[in-house]
Amino acid sequence: MPADYEDEELEEELEEEEPRRPAGRGQQRRYAASRRKRCQFCVDKVDTIDYKDVGLLRQFITEQGKIMARRKTGTCAKHQRRLAVAIKRARHLALLPFTAEHIRTGGFPER
Ligand SMILES: [Zn+2]
Repeated sequence: MPADYEDEELEEELEEEEPRRPAGRGQQRRYAASRRKRCQFCVDKVDTIDYKDVGLLRQFITEQGKIMARRKTGTCAKHQRRLAVAIKRARHLALLPFTAEHIRTGGFPER
């Protein structure tokens, strides 16, 4: 994250100019704040996850085409199971990639 780096350097410069600012201010940045969210499907009251909804399913796979871990997405057990099935169906219909190689080569791995 290059943008964050520049931010931190800027803060350090300010600290030198003004050393008597209130203590502890610099520790208020929390990157994990957005992690603490509820299951997206429970929030939206989704019961069955549509395997044809590629835009939605793409949010739950990594760049390598892997299904994302529950602890990263906050999805509950019930919906993670249904999501996994939906992603696997979508893969079978070639709506989603099985592996990163499929993404790079557009579905035709070089041999
Ligand atoms: Zn849920």
